[in-house]
Amino acid sequence: MIIFSGGTGTPKLLNGLRKVIPEQDITVVVNTAEDLWVSGNLVTPDIDTVLYLFSDRIDLKKWWGIEGDTFRTHETMKSLGHRERMMLGDLDRATHIMRSDLIRSGMTLTEAITQLCRSFGVKAKVLPMSNDPVSSMISTPEGKRHFQDFWIGKRGEPEVLDVFQEGINRASISPAVLRALENDDKVLIGPSNPITSIGPIAGLPGMVDILRKKKVIAVSPIIGKEPVSGPAGKLMHARGIDVSSAGVASYYSDFLEHMVLDKRDTADEKRFTDLACDVSRTDTLMKSVSVSSNLSRHILEQFRIM
Ligand code: GDP
Repeated sequence: MIIFSGGTGTPKLLNGLRKVIPEQDITVVVNTAEDLWVSGNLVTPDIDTVLYLFSDRIDLKKWWGIEGDTFRTHETMKSLGHRERMMLGDLDRATHIMRSDLIRSGMTLTEAITQLCRSFGVKAKVLPMSNDPVSSMISTPEGKRHFQDFWIGKRGEPEVLDVFQEGINRASISPAVLRALENDDKVLIGPSNPITSIGPIAGLPGMVDILRKKKVIAVSPIIGKEPVSGPAGKLMHARGIDVSSAGVASYYSDFLEHMVLDKRDTADEKRFTDLACDVSRTDTLMKSVSVSSNLSRHILEQFRIM
């Protein structure tokens, strides 16, 4: 099973999955469309959350950054008049410096992340979706902004006119992701933002054709009419997709076979029947690792792996 991931909902699921199957059996394809250069270093927020999760460094209260990190460098730069686009922790920044150095020395992003996995002792395979730059951009009445500038810089407040991925048509699926997909017929789309986390992975040229030949199961990031967290609702609305699990399923309808809904979701199952998509229900609100583990077991049963 290959898992497509963003940086919050799916990592919560991975935290349970690694209690259920050996970590070395987990392959995660991670969104890179939220990556950006900050103060001279490439920050890959979704990949870093996955790396910090598997190396037990993640701050589980925020689901980003390293537990117990300090922000002295960031604060010092601010006091000197340099405003960074993101708040980076001091320990976290070491990862960004190392990754950027590896890339400057000629490595691809995939090679640099493989090196970081080794350094952090991560046994799961963590694969950036592409080695080419792709950026989720938000069109607002004041012009287009990088997703991070919209979400962090402007706290997600501006009106969203549209969302698109800059560079996606020139980007290629990474060779490592292609190899992984050649060797596995099961793909799990984790409960991540459909527009800015899964959309960029599925939108890479050729990906939909590959997914059509796989058994694809998704976990809905929406319960009822609201995402569990984050801007997914606002971004789906801007793209004309109704904010519901059925809306997510219709967005994935080119390749989706089965959607796992939360047991509290009042979704109209007829809409799934119309999309030829099976559904099952369980607790998907991952407030604890035991809920994540139970959800993982449920998914493995749907794939007939357990
Ligand atoms: P990002 O990269 O930080 O935007 O994170 P993701 O795209 O991976 O995750 C954000 C999505 O995860 C949001 O749409 C949330 O609704 C969803 N999400 C977060 N926590 C949970 C949870 O416990 N259960 C479910 N079903 N979805 C969740």
